Amino acid sequence: MKNWRLKALAVVGLWSAASGCGSTQEPAAQTDTAAAADQAAGPSDAASGGEVSGGAGLPAAYAAMYNIESIGVEGDQVVIRTKNLPDHNSPFYGKTSAKYEAYNGTNPSFSTAIKLPNGNSDPILAAQDVTLRLPKSPKGASSHAGTGLGAIGIAINGVLLYNQYNGVKALLDSLEFNNFDQYNGHPTPAPALQYHYHVEPLYLTKTKGEGALLGFLLDGFPLYGPVENGKRLKTADLDKYHGHEHATTEYPAGTYHYHVTDDAPWINGDGYYGTAGTVTK
Ligand SMILES: [Zn+2]
Ligand SMILES: [Zn+2]
Repeated sequence: MKNWRLKALAVVGLWSAASGCGSTQEPAAQTDTAAAADQAAGPSDAASGGEVSGGAGLPAAYAAMYNIESIGVEGDQVVIRTKNLPDHNSPFYGKTSAKYEAYNGTNPSFSTAIKLPNGNSDPILAAQDVTLRLPKSPKGASSHAGTGLGAIGIAINGVLLYNQYNGVKALLDSLEFNNFDQYNGHPTPAPALQYHYHVEPLYLTKTKGEGALLGFLLDGFPLYGPVENGKRLKTADLDKYHGHEHATTEYPAGTYHYHVTDDAPWINGDGYYGTAGTVTK
């Protein structure tokens, strides 16, 4: 586990120099957040030896998670470790990879390359060592912190979720959309090469259903697909954090939950409904 820890620190160092996503260099704030999250996670890693035990105390909804390294409970947190390599194919896997699949989506402007101020980025995605710590029993918060750049949650297939902004905190536009593969994911530019979804993860809504549990945000509240009771939800149907509260299949007693929609801001609105946990990479 020491090795993992060192590698994680090295990746944070590299990632600091990388762009958050899309159009330009990441702002300093992202570096700070990554460093702060790493520090915050450090002591508990050391105390526990970084070991994660599965099963006991894990909320039932997390049974949906797959394609991850480990999941378990430490104190009042759910701890998920992921390599963040999608289980589906992608043109962002290198051509020598068994998971390489040429683009076969519907966007005629798709390109794996993305033009950045400091040159073109044409990344091949790379395995990550990411640890997410989410509140095991999420509660609505009185103040709602904004989501940061970088991971804001995790999809059930172990892929990170990002918010509605690019590396300069502008709403995503055609620059990013033309870079989304046939499953609506793409990696950050080199050297981080961190694959993520900002919008509906199409592989999951196709394989699990358009109203299925799709993942969890860092505050521990679940994310569901766009369809509910036969209706395709829009942002206007949700509160400003992009969710609402009622019973779901996984939470028969009711829970606050987010929905992904086709319109901006897609996954989350004005911040976390609850209190966000941490991400370490
Ligand atoms: Zn992105
Ligand atoms: Zn709902």
